[in-house]
Amino acid sequence: MNLNNYIRIVTDFPKEGISYKDITPLLQNPKALDYCVQKFADAINSEIDLVVGIESRGYFLATLLAKRFDAGFVPIRKKGKLPYTTLQESYDLEYGQDVLEIHEDAIQPGQKILIHDDVLATGGTAKAACNLVERLGGEIVQCNFLIELAFLEEGRKKLSTVEVNSLLQY
Ligand code: AMP
Repeated sequence: MNLNNYIRIVTDFPKEGISYKDITPLLQNPKALDYCVQKFADAINSEIDLVVGIESRGYFLATLLAKRFDAGFVPIRKKGKLPYTTLQESYDLEYGQDVLEIHEDAIQPGQKILIHDDVLATGGTAKAACNLVERLGGEIVQCNFLIELAFLEEGRKKLSTVEVNSLLQY
C-alpha cells in the first residue's frame, strides 16, 4: 500500500507558504487505516499502558492504537479545554507561544506511554507533550507520527531523547 495516495497536499493552507498535509482521505479509507495501525504496531516491541494523543488530529489514530494495544487513551489539549486540574507546558510557535495541558491524574508513575500525533514538523508540540508525560512519571516507549517533515530536521533533534517513528517522510 502506498500511503502517499491517501495524503492530500494543500498548498498555502492555512496561510501562504505552508504545504498542508491533509490526512482526511486516509481517515476515509478503512484499509489505509488498518495498514497504518499495523505498521505502527510492527514498530513497537513493548507493552503499552496508555496512548497519549495530541489535539486534535492526533486523536484519530491514537484511539485506534489504544484499542490495538489494549491500552487506555489520554488526550493532551490546548490550554483551557480540559475540565479537571491540569499540568501545563508552553512551547514556541512561529510567532509567540502556546500551551498544552494534561490532566494531573492521567498517568501513573512507571506507566508505559506511546505518544501519537499526525505530523511532526518543528517538534515543539511533541516535545511539550513528552515533557508533560515525563512530569507525571510516564515512561515514553515511542513517539509516532503518520507524517514527518524530515526536511525540517529540527523535529527529530528536539525529540532526541525518545524513540521516534513515522510512516511517511516529506
Ligand atoms: P510542530 O510543533 O512544528 O512539530 O507542529 C506539529 C503540529 O502542527 C501537529 O499537531 C500538526 O498537526 C501540525 N502541523 C504542522 N505542520 C503541518 C503541516 N504541514 N500539515 C499539517 N499539519 C501540520
